[in-house]
Amino acid sequence: RSPVLAVKGLTTQFVGRKNTTITVVDNIDLQVGKGETLGIVGESGCGKSVTSLSIMRLLGKNGRVVSGQVNFEGTDILTLEEKEMRKIRGNRLAMIFQEPMTSLNPVLTIGRQIGEVLQLHTHLGGEQRKQRTIELIAQVGIPRAQDIYNEYPHRLSGGMRQRVMIAMAMACQPQLLIADEPTTALDVTIQAQMLSLIRDMRAEAGMSVMLITHDLGVVAEMCDRVLVMYAGQVIESADVRTLLRRPKHPYTIGLIQSVPHNAKGERRLYAISGNVPSPGEWPQGCRFAPRCQEAMTICRTQSPPLSRLRDGSECRCWLHEPGAAAEGRDRM
Ligand code: SF4
Ligand code: MG
Repeated sequence: RSPVLAVKGLTTQFVGRKNTTITVVDNIDLQVGKGETLGIVGESGCGKSVTSLSIMRLLGKNGRVVSGQVNFEGTDILTLEEKEMRKIRGNRLAMIFQEPMTSLNPVLTIGRQIGEVLQLHTHLGGEQRKQRTIELIAQVGIPRAQDIYNEYPHRLSGGMRQRVMIAMAMACQPQLLIADEPTTALDVTIQAQMLSLIRDMRAEAGMSVMLITHDLGVVAEMCDRVLVMYAGQVIESADVRTLLRRPKHPYTIGLIQSVPHNAKGERRLYAISGNVPSPGEWPQGCRFAPRCQEAMTICRTQSPPLSRLRDGSECRCWLHEPGAAAEGRDRM
């Protein structure tokens, strides 16, 4: 069965100071199957958001996909005219962002903004469109949908605004929903409600989801498969159980060990030290080497390939390359 989304060799660059080009996403492959939820995990600055904006073709004027394919329902959407892309975006392919206030228009009512999506992609006439809009507002669990229809975004709480974003994204029953940190700015209770809303809609519509998050708790609850990004690359991918139970890459192991492990949310002492290197400042060899407690001589000079392991997961680390691990075992 062919995947809904198949990204191959995606590389995205931005124009930096003095017109330098900086690679932010470096040769990413990923696939999302029908009805599947793929999690993309990593600290901020790893290239997760730029990956999703590249897929949506919403990079803005400084960003550019320099190579690769984004096959969505069998078409490489990178080759489409913007006019054609606009028919897909918000329709078959929808996205919700972390901060709804920046993506909602402050001077338009909620009803008008959801209605515009329907106007763009459906043939519903005025009154039908209004009815459908009110239905969508009610479906995402916003009370008094009739009244909210006429409200402006600033009159709603953060959680309610995020629901409006979901209503807009779901308006045309997308095949794929890309959700970029959809719950990060919300408190825990509302976060849980939001995730269950996405889950319900996924179950009802058979939709696929690409969920970008730094929160492994969210991953455990929502995802079928996970891809871990570091410094613009995929460094590990596996089904969710394998990843959480038997992580392979030292970075993934560090992420999992940094998760609060009891009900009080107390953290273990171990967390990954240091920071994600900025794009343009990626070290030679393995990009994680400066932070890696397992780093060997070879890690400083040669970048490890992404290899498939026996349990089906993929990992980019010399420790998991039999020959290299034997030769380069001298620790730094
Ligand atoms: Fe650590 Fe080397 Fe593996 Fe990179 S390749 S994660 S430095 S052991
Ligand atoms: Mg981000």
